[in-house]
Amino acid sequence: MLTLFPEMFPGPLGTSLAGQALDAGIWSLNAIQIRDFGIGKHRQVDDSPTGGGAGMVLRADVLGPALDHAKSLNPGAPLVYMTPRGKRLTQQMSHTFAEGPGVTILAGRFEGIDERVIAHYGLSEISIGDYVLSGGELAGMVLLDSVIRLLPGVIGDAESLTHESFEQGLLEYPHYTKPREWQGHATPDVLLSGDHKKIAAWRQAQSEHITAARRPDLLAVKVPKKP
Ligand code: SAH
Repeated sequence: MLTLFPEMFPGPLGTSLAGQALDAGIWSLNAIQIRDFGIGKHRQVDDSPTGGGAGMVLRADVLGPALDHAKSLNPGAPLVYMTPRGKRLTQQMSHTFAEGPGVTILAGRFEGIDERVIAHYGLSEISIGDYVLSGGELAGMVLLDSVIRLLPGVIGDAESLTHESFEQGLLEYPHYTKPREWQGHATPDVLLSGDHKKIAAWRQAQSEHITAARRPDLLAVKVPKKP
């Protein structure tokens, strides 16, 4: 992770499932301080936008050496720049990262980064949604969290991953647990029937219904079946 705020890491990724996996050595993270590659005795990293306008832009001659350093640590890793202009992060993309050799993530700040860096390094631009954050760190953590939980050994019961939202091109069916009755609300009878075929059919129908109602765009996308 290339960032001006390495102290943000591992942050929330140091707790719960991701944190246990970090302690177990299933994944690891190197937070690289971009300012270490800054210019002059003030270690300057940004400058005003060429052509004028508000804000500051991270300089190419600072990000270049920082990216070169990151590449030397994990030469095979894809280079990603978190940006609202990027391709929207999907579960499919998280699977691809989880199966790969890791990922180098550049977190922007201010107005963003000099465009030439994106072209020169062939950075993949990824967005976590249609809103603007103040920095790429939280976005990078979102990407990492979605990838880490797919790594073998992170979630004990791998089965629990296969029925999740987006995995079959559908949103997940509703869950219930004890007690059977709560505040006058009953648990659907079918779930108490013990008939696994009927339960699976009910869940499938619920998934299809919820997806059609909330995310019809997902139904339009053909999801390749996982082997
Ligand atoms: N001027 C930019 C926004 C800069 S926000 C624009 O209008 O597109 C500062 C940094 O936060 C960005 O460089 C990027 O790294 C990060 N960021 C903000 N919103 C994001 C999002 N939705 N997804 C991923 N990264 C984001």
